[in-house]
Amino acid sequence: MDDWQNLLKGSLTKPEEIAERFDLDIEDVKKVAKNFKFRITPYYANLIKEKGDPIYRQIVPDTAELAENSGITDPLNEDEDSPVPSIVHRYPDRVLFLVSHSCASYCRFCTRKRKVGDPSKINPRYIEEGLAYIRQHTEIRDVIISGGDPLMLSDNKLEYVLKSLRAIEHIQILRIGSRVPCFLPQRITPKLVKMLQRYHPLYMNVHFNHPDEITGEAARALNLLANAGIPLGNQTVLLKGVNDDPEVMKRLMQKLLTVRVRPYYIYQADYVKGTEYLRTKVSKGLEIIEAIRGWTSGLAVPQFVIDAPGGGGKIPLLPAYVQSIDDDKVVLRNYRGELFVYPQVESPDNQAPARLPVRQAPYKPEFIAEPEEMIC
Ligand SMILES: *Cc1c(COP(=O)(O)O)cnc(C)c1O
Ligand code: SF4
Repeated sequence: MDDWQNLLKGSLTKPEEIAERFDLDIEDVKKVAKNFKFRITPYYANLIKEKGDPIYRQIVPDTAELAENSGITDPLNEDEDSPVPSIVHRYPDRVLFLVSHSCASYCRFCTRKRKVGDPSKINPRYIEEGLAYIRQHTEIRDVIISGGDPLMLSDNKLEYVLKSLRAIEHIQILRIGSRVPCFLPQRITPKLVKMLQRYHPLYMNVHFNHPDEITGEAARALNLLANAGIPLGNQTVLLKGVNDDPEVMKRLMQKLLTVRVRPYYIYQADYVKGTEYLRTKVSKGLEIIEAIRGWTSGLAVPQFVIDAPGGGGKIPLLPAYVQSIDDDKVVLRNYRGELFVYPQVESPDNQAPARLPVRQAPYKPEFIAEPEEMIC
């Protein structure tokens, strides 16, 4: 057994362990665990400084998860876009490929908690069917290997998936989505990395939500991956009491760049049942982008997106930098709030170029949907 597998075995998985360590009612823990299992690696548990802190809130089972007041079990309507159990095919040229039900630790806000941790829903025996689907669909050029967490597979099983995908001619790029560098960085070994780099072009999106998660151990793991030529991106979920603070988010994005990870997305928390206590208003995300764009490196600015309830896919949101657009000029606001005018190109008959949509000025963003309106 590898070191990382031993470390994983030492995780907090029993209600008694959690109850004792965090001074919780054991019956409460059992009730919550029935709804969505828990596991916390010893490494990640050690990052918790006190009850209720940003690390704790992401990972320790909370009775607030049992609240019935809002949210849905499959907020992104993934099951509707799932032609075979291991595939979600929503966009024209790329698919999600679910290859592992397991995660190193279980995020309480997980959007796929209806499936994750449940081997009857995501299972290696569905992998063949997924591969067959990808082989048949020549329009697919990009496969996002996900789960659960694909890095919970053994090196051999993961290599089988990568090798099988690489053998498909129309597949251009492979991506791995993983929270292992955050939860169990010890799993990123020289042996794993050596195997991964045989399947380039391979990208990896990692998942860090707080600057305290970028430890020396995590930096070591990310460094190994980056040295293997794997471009690293980060996906962050905006969470109440975790990172709903522009200063914290800016520090996270800056720190990611120091370990060669390019911020990719900040997600508005999905409308998942039992996660109301972790959701923020959408305006918080816009405030965060305002606080980063221009004030620090452009490389540190991810896209803020809502994965639309009902299966609309990822929709980007930007603070209102465009004040107005007409045939003659565009009025823009910079990060300091100062206004600037950009003259439009003059077309011969003084009409806007045919292919550009022209909005009526002033441009008013209408995108702040409150939860009640987000029903699909
Ligand atoms: C997020 C997602 C993708 C990848 O989206 P990108 O914007 O290309 O990163 C693909 N398929 C599904 C179903 C997704 O949810
Ligand atoms: S690591 Fe990803 S898939 Fe696993 S519980 Fe967290 S959000 Fe869900």
